[in-house]
Amino acid sequence: MAKIGFIGVGNMGGPMAANLIKAGHELKVFDLSADAVAKLVEQGAEAAETATDAARDVDVVITMLPAGKHVKSVYLGDDGVIANAREGALLIDSSTIDVDTAREVAAAAKARGLRMIDAPVSGGVPGAEAGTLTFMCGGSDEDFAAAKPYLEAMGKNIIHAGGSGNGQAAKICNNMVLGITMIAVSEAFVLAEKLGLDAQTLFDISSTSSGQCWALTSYCPVPGPVPTSPANRDYKPGFTAANMLKDLRLAQDASKSAGARTHLGAEAARLYTEMEEQGRDGLDFSAIVKLIRES
Ligand code: NAD
Repeated sequence: MAKIGFIGVGNMGGPMAANLIKAGHELKVFDLSADAVAKLVEQGAEAAETATDAARDVDVVITMLPAGKHVKSVYLGDDGVIANAREGALLIDSSTIDVDTAREVAAAAKARGLRMIDAPVSGGVPGAEAGTLTFMCGGSDEDFAAAKPYLEAMGKNIIHAGGSGNGQAAKICNNMVLGITMIAVSEAFVLAEKLGLDAQTLFDISSTSSGQCWALTSYCPVPGPVPTSPANRDYKPGFTAANMLKDLRLAQDASKSAGARTHLGAEAARLYTEMEEQGRDGLDFSAIVKLIRES
């Protein structure tokens, strides 16, 4: 069993760290929130004083932080994880961040002779709690193989997407599809309403026709057809519109730096920005149907 430093034990990192403890690993945890750390200490973790302290004398460092700027501040610099980790340590960043930062931090780790992968996740808080997350990983074959056993304690599908940053690339490409298709499905239901076509009837036809997609069949944005979808509980998340907007903005930044045409991705980011401006970004992202209905 390994000694693991875990930095960032919020909504996602907390249950992920708890699953590593259940798997028998020894955990040292750090978060800016003392309450978040205390919850894990109750479950058997040791509290670290600082991120530097969590990274020292451990075999593996895992981070689950809000955004690229937090990842840079935790990994880089004299007090950072990279400067203070033990020789040969394995670093795993599971935060969802921009591809460029993921590659910059991995290059800095490699320059110090450390192993590192980016491993963002899909599956949300329920997946983190149940240990059924999907991990999309970027890094060398050797580093991926070294990280896999730890990721298996927290997830069900562990996929190698290529070199450094490709885990992040996979995450934002997938979520751009989801953001766009949720808007497409919402537009179809609103148009159906205005044409006098019953929502359940449209669902029965589209879910067995060429309009079939995950946004329709698992997360249907109108109440009724899919009883487990957030539309049936006043759009309580689920996956918040704020998180969807974050990922769509990352996809737009990546599109600009890579020179890719993503017009629908840009329009999706614009519509979710409207939701944010209306103060509705704490709702599930399928609540975009309300904005479309009101336009
Ligand atoms: P969160 O805000 O609940 O947790 C982040 C934690 O990081 C907080 O507890 C915060 O105090 C801590 N933190 C911030 N800066 C720090 C620092 N310098 N040192 C130590 N701790 C620091 O967020 P979350 O929902 O757990 O999301 C974490 C990441 O996972 C994000 O990148 C998010 O996009 C991604 N993600 C979230 C979900 C979801 O459904 N919540 C799903 C997939 C991916």
